[in-house]
Amino acid sequence: MSNLGDLQSLASSIAAVTSPFRNYLNDIYEKYRSLNDGVVADYIPELALAKPEWFGICVVTPDGQIFEVGDCDKLFTIQSISKAFVYGLALEDHGREYVNSKVSVEPTGEAFNSIVLDEATNRPYNPMVNAGAIATADLIKGQNSTERLKRMLAMFKRYTGREHDINVPVFLSEKSTGYRNKAMAYLMLNFGMVSNKIDETLDLYFQQCSILVNAKDLAMLAATLANGGINPVTKERAIDEHYVQDVISVMFTCGMYDASGEWAYRVGIPAKSGVGGGITAVVPSQLGIGTFSPPLDTKGNSLRGIKVCEDLSKDFGLHLFNVAKPERDLKEWLEGGNINDW
Ligand code: GLU
Repeated sequence: MSNLGDLQSLASSIAAVTSPFRNYLNDIYEKYRSLNDGVVADYIPELALAKPEWFGICVVTPDGQIFEVGDCDKLFTIQSISKAFVYGLALEDHGREYVNSKVSVEPTGEAFNSIVLDEATNRPYNPMVNAGAIATADLIKGQNSTERLKRMLAMFKRYTGREHDINVPVFLSEKSTGYRNKAMAYLMLNFGMVSNKIDETLDLYFQQCSILVNAKDLAMLAATLANGGINPVTKERAIDEHYVQDVISVMFTCGMYDASGEWAYRVGIPAKSGVGGGITAVVPSQLGIGTFSPPLDTKGNSLRGIKVCEDLSKDFGLHLFNVAKPERDLKEWLEGGNINDW
């Protein structure tokens, strides 16, 4: 980054500290930090180590302002949130038509790990359920497994602006217990929907789920999509602009497990959650939201994360189909956070 870029990002960070929107985020953080419902995922021992009180909220604007409150640097595994972004990479690798011939875009209303394919076409229902995500991982190009993983990690770096590591114990645990995922992969192989590199593809899928991120990364992932595929801080393009709408669309219809319909109705912001406790939510052209709080509801979505997104949506009229005047005008609340005011 240039010196001017450094200065701009410093000014932006300082401004974000003084903006009224920051106070708003502090208030909702305080409002929900004492919420003690939900259960931390424990299907593998490593995830059960997460502390229920960890809680972070980060919001990034397309002009690069960053607002953070709480545990925004704490690392956790990205889990299912990775699926949306790997889908984008598969689209770049093969184009819409081919990817669509392997993975449909239909919501299921079924649990994310159900072993079910579309009876007419044998395709997995969508890239956000495990079967679809495994078929999507299979599509990622590369000479060998190392190169395929490197391409995925490089993609995440373009979105977040920083290098990502894999949590190896989580990867190994997922790999040694992931029998359902293996069953799905073989079912899809039976129907010719995936290549026969089953073990390599499953490893890639388990590795993508084990990538370490923090709430700030989740906000940056979302803000990059909100900004048409360009990281708002580094200005690097993370994904071809033609595929941004595909990724956001499947997030909207399928991103919140089998609560996606209710989420679309109540919150109306395209989002993807993961069992590590993260939610990444995209308000096109306006905001990227990242939340982290490990306790989950029965559908697998972070409870505090849901509350935060519900409040943001309601208070600033961020529901995609909202036509009523919002309680608060987002632009006004962000003011004082604009670097041009400094
Ligand atoms: N790694 C998990 C699995 O394959 C996905 C977790 C999630 O839904 O976030 O079962």
